[in-house]
Amino acid sequence: MKEFDYIIIGGGCAGLSLAYELEINEKLKDKTLAIIEPRKEYKKDKTWSFWKVASHNFDDCVKKSWDNFSINIPKNTNHLQCTSYPYQSVDSGLFYEKINKKLKENKNISFFKNISEINSKNSFIFNSVPSLKKDYRNLWQHFCGVEIETQNDFFDDQIFNLMDFDCDQRESVHFFYTLPFSKTRALIETTWLSKMNDSSQKDYDHQIKDYIENHLNLKNYKITYKEEGAIPLFYPIYEETKNKINIGTAGGMTRLSTGYTFLNIQEHSKYICKNIENISKTKKFEIGKKYQFLDDVFLRVLDKNPEKMPDIFFEMFKTSPKTVIKFLSNKSNFFEDLSVIFKMPKFTFIKALFY
Ligand SMILES: Cc1cc2nc3c(=O)[nH]c(=O)nc-3n(C[C@H](O)[C@H](O)[C@H](O)COP(=O)(O)OP(=O)(O)OC[C@H]3O[C@@H](n4cnc5c(N)ncnc54)[C@H](O)[C@@H]3O)c2cc1C
Repeated sequence: MKEFDYIIIGGGCAGLSLAYELEINEKLKDKTLAIIEPRKEYKKDKTWSFWKVASHNFDDCVKKSWDNFSINIPKNTNHLQCTSYPYQSVDSGLFYEKINKKLKENKNISFFKNISEINSKNSFIFNSVPSLKKDYRNLWQHFCGVEIETQNDFFDDQIFNLMDFDCDQRESVHFFYTLPFSKTRALIETTWLSKMNDSSQKDYDHQIKDYIENHLNLKNYKITYKEEGAIPLFYPIYEETKNKINIGTAGGMTRLSTGYTFLNIQEHSKYICKNIENISKTKKFEIGKKYQFLDDVFLRVLDKNPEKMPDIFFEMFKTSPKTVIKFLSNKSNFFEDLSVIFKMPKFTFIKALFY
């Protein structure tokens, strides 16, 4: 059976981002790479959005970028600017196409459907398939979104809506998220932060239809695309071994308070690429410990006080949006952390330290 220097398990966002980073930095000229990916074909299945706080290789896959956003709670809306860190949406279809085209040019890179097809004994492995402990206490960000097209101009495409909490909360945390790609096209998502043992929240189609038709008052539209997912708001099991690194969601690249992962994956890929010659001895790349601690407290508050969360998110963004964006994107300094923390209800958060 064939052997390879490197193996990437899972050719999704993290696996392909890493392979691309290695390829464009000429790290695969004299090394071989096998990518293990079971899917039969690549097509658009996700819309990755984030504040651009760091550079990445996929500006040409960005569908739309915004400098303005809003947050709503019942009877109140906050309009905010993000000119310093525009919010970008990457089309996964364009992303897969760009990377696969590039990777196919290098004969040292091979694709397989199953790891049993190769000899992996002497390879260095980058694994992006998470091992998730089933625990009913775990929180998830689960969501469903549809891209819709209207006949007439309807959306203001200069501003996206990050969170609209003016909706049925069902004793949980629920909001709608709207990305207007043009005046006639938008992605509208229903998003829940909750445990997954409650299937009553999964009537996503009904929630979206009701929001579009009765909240936005839009009757004439057609659905052109749908995506659904669940992001674990807890770290997957990570077994430390000498010849293996976990990447992507499996590698703890999700910011637990927000679900944002894409840009962390890009930074992790750059880090691995920079250290690839000495990878087995390189220090593990992690989202900063302070964010791990603060997110843990934040999620405890969320778990115990779901009814308080719309106001907490709303208040948080009353600090300068630039500061909050840096905080949520793991780029804040000590003083910026403090200014976000001071916007939180102190008693609720202090109590959460002792749950
Ligand atoms: C619908 C959706 C929307 C999201 N939107 C955002 C967003 O807007 N912003 C953001 O920052 N994050 C977002 N995320 C979170 C995160 O960025 C994505 O989940 C991202 O795809 C994670 O990359 P990954 O490589 O870890 O996982 P994936 O992209 O899921 O890649 C894992 C790959 O492993 C393959 N695989 C599965 N089983 C095996 C196996 N046994 N052997 C080999 N391969 C296997 C899968 O087919 C898949 O291709 C979103 C997640 C989802 C699900």
